[in-house]
Amino acid sequence: MNKKLYVISGSSGVGKGTVLKGFLKKNPEFMLSISCTTRKPRPGEVDGVNYFFLSKDEFQNCIDNDKFLEWAEFAGNFYGTKKKYINQCLEQGKDIILEIDTQGALQVKKRMPEAVLIFICPPSYEALENRLRGRHTEDEETIQKRLEQAKIELERAERFDYKILNDDLEKAICALENVINKERNNA
Ligand code: 5GP
Repeated sequence: MNKKLYVISGSSGVGKGTVLKGFLKKNPEFMLSISCTTRKPRPGEVDGVNYFFLSKDEFQNCIDNDKFLEWAEFAGNFYGTKKKYINQCLEQGKDIILEIDTQGALQVKKRMPEAVLIFICPPSYEALENRLRGRHTEDEETIQKRLEQAKIELERAERFDYKILNDDLEKAICALENVINKERNNA
């Protein structure tokens, strides 16, 4: 079977984290990359588990030393994937999943054209807004920034290899499994 890098993107609030969690529960052999961010942790988030939480200076230092496979500014914060971990996993023959924004996904595709880009779509823009508001993790200004960003992300999704609609969690998990199984079995 072919070991690959899978990149999952989707607008903030689309539920991509939940789809991914469901997928990983059924397919625990996949490695999930832990990103670096300058965003402050949300309640319950743990450094080294959800993200590596860095200061702006620490993040800049990683950029200057070419430590990132990709990085992007998203809604006022910086996010990036360290090269080291990705390379280690691929060298060890492990399939790896990145959950990153569309700017980062397209950077990865440029550097690694064999990477598979998968976009998780919301049933509608209104559904996205409702979910984003319903989770009560962001203030109004941040919600507005994320909704603006969502429009841009939907446009960039046109350049992805696959799109999966998340209007039903179980169906979305199955669709993700189908896409990944198809790619894994492609020699
Ligand atoms: P959140 O702040 O909600 O955790 O993430 C905001 C956005 O940043 C999401 O779209 C998420 O996929 C994206 N993101 C998380 N990690 C990375 C990363 O390492 N690189 C890039 N480019 N985006 C990331």
